[in-house]
Amino acid sequence: MFTQITLPFAENALEPVIDTLTIQTHYGKHHAAYTKTFNDLVEKAGLTGKTAEEILSSLDSVADETLRTGLRNQGGGYLNHNIYFEQFKPASEAKNAPEGALLDQINKQFGSVEKLIEELNALSASQFGSGWGWLCKKADGELVLCKTANQDNMYSLKMDVKPILTLDVWEHAYYLGYKNLRADYLKALWEIIDWSVAEARYA
Ligand code: MN
Repeated sequence: MFTQITLPFAENALEPVIDTLTIQTHYGKHHAAYTKTFNDLVEKAGLTGKTAEEILSSLDSVADETLRTGLRNQGGGYLNHNIYFEQFKPASEAKNAPEGALLDQINKQFGSVEKLIEELNALSASQFGSGWGWLCKKADGELVLCKTANQDNMYSLKMDVKPILTLDVWEHAYYLGYKNLRADYLKALWEIIDWSVAEARYA
């Protein structure tokens, strides 16, 4: 049985970067619905006991196309939002810059954290329609930026990378607070991204 992560912040604690109503709707309605439907489909597909990553990495084994598409969309919606919500802290508590091996790798590949943020924000802003921007890690430690459509992720797309940070660019993630200004939302997100979470995922 898959469950939503417990939010590592109070519903109103990410204001003004993410408003309370957006958190309540995004986590309490959208993410909750993905989670419930994913659980139903997992049971229907006889995949109980597998991890979400395992299920999404082996969708080819699900013969029924409707079920396979459902697992891809609902499983991605379940997992992507866990990765997303887990990485935030109120601005006053979030670790505001990376250190150690992750910082070294960022500097080596991008020149600076600011440059990485600039590139990832531009890539995420350019996603046509709904989707996600990602900072990922290859097995050898190299960092990779990518974007995915809808609820696709590195598992359903068999990208062989591990997620380090993710930026939700579905309109439900920002429209109440930012209307059509996706780039402003992406820029503000970095005030509440807790780099200690990224460091732990990178390690
Ligand atoms: Mn979302």
